[in-house]
Amino acid sequence: MLLAALRDSLRNLAAYTLDFFLPRLCLFCGEAVAPRAPAALCPACEARVPRVQSPMCPRCGRLFIHRQGPDRPCGWCLKEPPPFAAARAAVVYEEEGLSGQAIKQFKYHRRLEYLPLLTHWLTEPACLGFAAACDLMVPVPLHVRRLRERGFNQALLLARALPGRLLRDALVRTRHTQPQTGLSPTARRENVRRAFAVRRPEMIQGKSVLLVDDVYTTGATVRECSRALLAAGAREVRVLTVARVAPPGFRAG
Ligand SMILES: [Zn+2]
Ligand SMILES: [Zn+2]
Repeated sequence: MLLAALRDSLRNLAAYTLDFFLPRLCLFCGEAVAPRAPAALCPACEARVPRVQSPMCPRCGRLFIHRQGPDRPCGWCLKEPPPFAAARAAVVYEEEGLSGQAIKQFKYHRRLEYLPLLTHWLTEPACLGFAAACDLMVPVPLHVRRLRERGFNQALLLARALPGRLLRDALVRTRHTQPQTGLSPTARRENVRRAFAVRRPEMIQGKSVLLVDDVYTTGATVRECSRALLAAGAREVRVLTVARVAPPGFRAG
């Protein structure tokens, strides 16, 4: 595993070095990208990535299927408000679309050249404004076993792109859990129950914490992280992710 990680790192380094000398190409269609573009993404592909936009639930950030009307609390939050104060994301997660491709390539295939693209979305003005209200940032942690397998924590790499104070190991994953992918909402909730602990509560007491992750799917993981942070004395938790899974039947635009 370590050797594989090293090989991948070298390959990424080589890719970065080549990038420096050759014109950058769009990661999706291969078109040349303007030299000063923030990410290897051409304008046509950029336009194909739907942004998270109103109408949504102001609390949990859930996107409404009917794209009319103002922001309003969703039925889920009215019934049982989440432990976090608010959740927002930059782009809509499309499993077969560009956002899904970028996240999967980055996370599961160690294609680090997708990181600037993800941070480009994460640092859009709406996300920066949302993050600015917090005192410090905490990435959703990986269990040490998963960290060894993957070689990096994607949430930490993403959080590093945001301005603000980053506490990289205040929150830890105490239990190795199976991947959430493919699990039902109930199974996801069970899977991450009591899987997190705050190692340095004195650092987060009374603070507004920004929890950072790559994708918000059912919110099971960030709910559980929020509970741990609040129990350790955080004043509030806000959740920021690059992408957000929309409800079935959702059509952007
Ligand atoms: Zn393109
Ligand atoms: Zn809601």
